[in-house]
Amino acid sequence: MGGSIGTARDRDVRVTTLRDQFGRTIEYLRISVTDKCNFRCRYCMPLEGLPWLPKADLLTYEEIGDVVSQLASMGLKRIRITGGEPTIRPQLDTLIRFIRAVPEVEDIALSTNGVKLPELAPSLAAAGLDRVNISADSLRRDRIVAIARRDLGFEPIAAARAAQAAGLGPIKLNVVVMRGVNDDEVVDFARLTLDNPWHVRFIELMPVGSLEPMTEEMVVPSDEILARIQDALGTLTSTAGPARGNGPAAYTQLQGAAGTIGVITPMTHTYCGSCNRVRLTADGRLRTCLFGDHEVDLRAPLRAGQPLAPFVVQALAEKPEAHALLSRRVGGLRALSQVGG
Ligand code: SAM
Ligand code: SF4
Repeated sequence: MGGSIGTARDRDVRVTTLRDQFGRTIEYLRISVTDKCNFRCRYCMPLEGLPWLPKADLLTYEEIGDVVSQLASMGLKRIRITGGEPTIRPQLDTLIRFIRAVPEVEDIALSTNGVKLPELAPSLAAAGLDRVNISADSLRRDRIVAIARRDLGFEPIAAARAAQAAGLGPIKLNVVVMRGVNDDEVVDFARLTLDNPWHVRFIELMPVGSLEPMTEEMVVPSDEILARIQDALGTLTSTAGPARGNGPAAYTQLQGAAGTIGVITPMTHTYCGSCNRVRLTADGRLRTCLFGDHEVDLRAPLRAGQPLAPFVVQALAEKPEAHALLSRRVGGLRALSQVGG
């Protein structure tokens, strides 16, 4: 047996470290609360949508709260709520309240496309949400609509300001860079960090799902992104990045800037050696790798009133050492919206 929770299998016995078979400590859970979305981003979801999960298959907020509570007793400390688009599931603040009530949880973050943030940011903050990541692939209205394929009046700057006003910082803006689509905006995004305490992160396009024509030529390596920014705006200096929630991004900063610039490079570098995370799908499966097919069902034992620890141990024993993205290349892998990207 590779994974371990010390010697304890019973949730009433406190165990503080959750380790996988390669000795990696797992303390971060990404929770998908829905597979649905109000956008249809070209790199994520087909225009016609996907075969959505039946409602009865979704974990309820109470059930998600129970999973978090059980995993927290085994060492879980940080939570990210994601999807699909999490803000379209009604009463998301109720879930945040449940998670906030788990004392071991130190950080609750939300990944969102930002459309509903101006409306929801205050209530999510009041419920106990700590911070948000906002996906924003363009600052131009026509382009936002062309990439997201829905015109919902999304304004990235307004969304970030609303989140900041509600105290949901440090604010991170995630930009998936696509050659020939939005790569001419990297300097505009970088410029935002001069006056705003925001962390703009450029993400290399990943060839997952089976979607709109996406070619490897559309991947813009992070070195090229940073070089373009330096040419336009001056020297970038390495920095530690935002105080909270440092994951796989490497951060730099323009001189005198209020915010930072990060790159997330799943295509040109892997982070598997230091991976500290697992994922809970909307239908209650624990996925140990974003790009693997391996899942362990937690919903059945949860609904049967069984403790989850043995199932978590099993999942971690099978967590792969590294993901298959680079070897499998384009196609075949599920879209990030389906697995809680
Ligand atoms: N709907 C939320 C959002 O867009 O932030 C949360 C879910 S979304 C699947 C999470 C992140 O995955 C977003 O930042 C999105 O840009 C990113 N993503 C989705 N498909 C991707 C792909 N093929 N390559 C790179 N990033 C991708
Ligand atoms: Fe929806 Fe997020 Fe996927 Fe875009 S990236 S389609 S906003 S889940």
